[in-house]
Amino acid sequence: DTIIVWFRRDLRLDDNPALEAALRSGARILPVYIHAPDEEAPWAPGAASRWWLHHSLEALDAALRARGARLWIGQGESLALLRRLAETSGARAIHWNRLYDPATRARDTEIKQRLRAAGLDCASHNGALLFEPWEAATGSGGPYRVFSAFWRHCAPRLAEHPGPIAAPARIPGVELDGGGTVADLGLLPRIRWDQGLAEAWTPGEHGARTTAERFLAGHLVGYGELRDHPDRPATSCLSPHLHFGEIGPRRLLALTRAALPAALPLGEHAFVRELGWREFAYHLLYHFPQTPEHPLDARFADYPWREPSDTELLERWQQGRTGIPLVDAGMRELWHTGWMHNRVRMVAASLLTKNLRLPWQLGARWFWDTLVDADLASNTLGWQWTAGCGADAAPYFRVFNPVRQGERFDPNGDYVRRWCPELARLPDKVLQQPWTATSTTLARAGVGLGVNYPAPIVDLAQSRREALAGWERIKSIS
Ligand code: FAD
Repeated sequence: DTIIVWFRRDLRLDDNPALEAALRSGARILPVYIHAPDEEAPWAPGAASRWWLHHSLEALDAALRARGARLWIGQGESLALLRRLAETSGARAIHWNRLYDPATRARDTEIKQRLRAAGLDCASHNGALLFEPWEAATGSGGPYRVFSAFWRHCAPRLAEHPGPIAAPARIPGVELDGGGTVADLGLLPRIRWDQGLAEAWTPGEHGARTTAERFLAGHLVGYGELRDHPDRPATSCLSPHLHFGEIGPRRLLALTRAALPAALPLGEHAFVRELGWREFAYHLLYHFPQTPEHPLDARFADYPWREPSDTELLERWQQGRTGIPLVDAGMRELWHTGWMHNRVRMVAASLLTKNLRLPWQLGARWFWDTLVDADLASNTLGWQWTAGCGADAAPYFRVFNPVRQGERFDPNGDYVRRWCPELARLPDKVLQQPWTATSTTLARAGVGLGVNYPAPIVDLAQSRREALAGWERIKSIS
């Protein structure tokens, strides 16, 4: 008796409901991974995500082998491959954990129907979320559009949330010919730009668990105060691990609960609230599947964006050459490590969409390709929130001032100095706005504006006024 467990973005053995359900039935397990990027179009994994995926799949295969099974790896059309695998292995059922982005949801629905019609038992499970997107509904039965209301609904339910399932000690595996290796999938870049990623990360379930434990032991207490500081290692850096399902939110919640004083209501802790934002992002993507391409606030369809044909501005932003130090530091951190601090993501996105008035979709695409944690739900929410056109958006007139943000959250300039070493010798007072420094100060620090560091790409005050004027034009559209 054989059951196929189809791994997707749940690349772990711990707290994996699909695997657990298959094992519970006493069957032998055929673990499968199918690489089918076309089926995720137009949001097939970007370059940084593919790098991560390569290493995560290798880690999963090793963990399976250590327990008596091995990952069957293939590429092509998922439905056809699953059908063939079921035939050759004689499997009677297929289990998987659900995905929530529009393309894979549609695909999975079709696969379920077709395989069931062919007599196979198909079951999907929740391995990715604390709350299914359809479980939370407003008083009138609709989806939430405001985070605080969403979290007021969810947070009290955390107390009775079921705990995680332990990883199985042994997995009685089925081995089948015809599978390939992770390397066959060609996920690694041909030009090896990935050294910075390799230095920064350990993809895989073990890396995820170690990262979580280190964060909870060392940084959970100060998290609420320090999480906005890009100059401190104060956040968990769990986002790529969560995206690829190397650790599940139930396990993370249980570990967090154990690390916190019992008296504190779990949902009120700043870290658990952030996990709540992730849940909210999935809630929104599920109920508003058009939002990766279209603003939730339809008025923004008429916003006077700058012509995107002006590629020089976009390129300077992408390359961290805007002349605005905090933004450049963030964009370079992103390029080098595949990750950017949340505060800086907001500031960089605000500069692109408000000061440069370039469509938020261009920024979202760049993040998609360069982030190791690129996630359709969270990326869409983050970009629309910052651009002011999404759910729970900050009031449009609140345009981030990157200089003030730098002075507040990188007060000693450690972050900017790390990623923009050409500015390192500038005094703190002008570090976040080198264009205000005197020529003597610049010369003494070895900074030549327009020579070894760019002059600012826009006038921040003037461009802020233009962005607000654009908003005035659309705000009364109903
Ligand atoms: P922590 O502060 O340790 O938070 C713990 C976890 O909570 C994170 O790992 C993440 O899963 C979740 N989380 C925290 N903040 C948010 C948030 N604002 N929205 C949704 N989930 C959150 N996050 C992604 O995972 N993928 C993306 O593609 C992504 N794109 C973003 C784009 C923009 C423009 C912005 C402003 C934010 C984006 N975020 C995205 C959200 C956030 O920046 C990252 O989740 C966070 O920086 C990850 O670092 P961490 O794991 O150390 O976070």
